[in-house]
Amino acid sequence: MKVLVLGSGVIGVSTAYYLARSGHEVEVCDRQPGPALETSFGNAGEVSPGYSAPWAGPGVPLKAIKWMLMTHSPLVIWPLLDPAMWRWGAMMLANCTERAYALNKSRMVPIAEYSRDCLKALRAETGIAYDDRAQGTLQLFRTQAQMDGIAKDVEVLQQYKVPFEVLDREGFVKVEPALRLTQEKFVGALRLPGDETGDCFLFTKRLAEMAQQLGVRFHYGTEILGLEKEGQRISGVRTAGGTKRADRYVMAMGSFSPLLLKPLGIDVPVYPVKGYSITVPITDAACAPESTIMDETHKVAVTRLGDRIRVGGTAELAGYSNALRPARRSTLEHVVTDLFPRGGDVSKASFWCGLRPMTPDGTPIVGPTPIDNLMLATGHGTLGWTMAAGTGRIIADLVSGREPEIDTAGLSMARYRKAWRGPQPSLAPGVPA
Ligand SMILES: Cc1cc2nc3c(=O)[nH]c(=O)nc-3n(C[C@H](O)[C@H](O)[C@H](O)COP(=O)(O)OP(=O)(O)OC[C@H]3O[C@@H](n4cnc5c(N)ncnc54)[C@H](O)[C@@H]3O)c2cc1C
Repeated sequence: MKVLVLGSGVIGVSTAYYLARSGHEVEVCDRQPGPALETSFGNAGEVSPGYSAPWAGPGVPLKAIKWMLMTHSPLVIWPLLDPAMWRWGAMMLANCTERAYALNKSRMVPIAEYSRDCLKALRAETGIAYDDRAQGTLQLFRTQAQMDGIAKDVEVLQQYKVPFEVLDREGFVKVEPALRLTQEKFVGALRLPGDETGDCFLFTKRLAEMAQQLGVRFHYGTEILGLEKEGQRISGVRTAGGTKRADRYVMAMGSFSPLLLKPLGIDVPVYPVKGYSITVPITDAACAPESTIMDETHKVAVTRLGDRIRVGGTAELAGYSNALRPARRSTLEHVVTDLFPRGGDVSKASFWCGLRPMTPDGTPIVGPTPIDNLMLATGHGTLGWTMAAGTGRIIADLVSGREPEIDTAGLSMARYRKAWRGPQPSLAPGVPA
């Protein structure tokens, strides 16, 4: 079967790779000159099934107000005149109940764990390397109140049988020795030893090369303009390089997916939630992190990627703006120097931002649509790197007519049918640069 994958981020490339391994003829279109040059380029590097949870949860609306008032705030909302943003926000608020949280988490954890296992298998089969480490993640708490607040998280970890360790100062310094210099700032930590880390860009680039060797044809520098529908089928994809046709199509354009789905009558609540990262060259490896440390106060993740430290965070609702805001950089610099003052040289850091394709319920949209030959692989939000390999496997199974290895019923767009009939995101939201 001929399959056209739209988008060459980590989701599109993983999908193309597994489709090719299933024996399909695969082509991929992307506007960028290579793979993973948008949101999959500079993320925080965590492959974290342990932290796979929706942002929307009980108590979050109150916390959000507190976060917005902080100096180094993890949440920024631009008061845009973008009805899609407010509608998406209202749906997110509706998901802040105990019941919705439990349901959404029950959909996210299986695909995240499955994906981590697919990634392990892929490493074993192909030897793919991407500055990867399998040393877990550490959530650091600055106050006793934060530490006391983990009881609920621990309950959920136990429920999902996720291995964890609650650590005192001595315990967290043992796994992250560089924290010996700053340990007094923290009261304790929660460690998830099953989580992994790695450079998502490097992974996607190398996987795209492997996919190419399996026969996948990549059309880079190719803007996708629209999808053509005849009856209940897609008949072609209009691109800057002419119309491309296939038997099946997979939409994997991240935050931009809803813009091309809307004219087909498909409304999916995926909204861009901007995040930032800096990548800092390591100057003293003994004073740098071993794996990922999440500073719970600032919601910033600090990850070792080879000879670099990746520092990522911030949720900014700013439409599709790609402006790099100096205030966000200063937050990231503040956190990394506060934790690892001698680890790296922030004056030589590169600064980046990306648009997380977020759904209001945190769960990605993976599976069929009302259009017979169109599948969705989008809406992975904060966890696209974590869920990529599993998403690719699921789509390859569905396209091949095989039963996926995990239950995918709650992952398809069917869960929104009644809820989302509202306006779609606009491309010109009027955020000042
Ligand atoms: C600061 C930050 C930190 C993060 N940290 C983590 C983390 O630690 N762990 C984790 O699991 N996830 C993390 N994420 C989330 C993760 O990066 C994303 O979920 C993931 O990259 C989404 O991948 P994607 O392939 O869906 O989208 P993208 O990577 O954006 O790919 C979409 C592709 O579609 C192409 N495209 C779009 N429109 C068009 C068009 N019209 N024509 C042609 N091509 C088009 C784009 O060029 C792009 O290549 C983080 C995100 C951010 C911003």
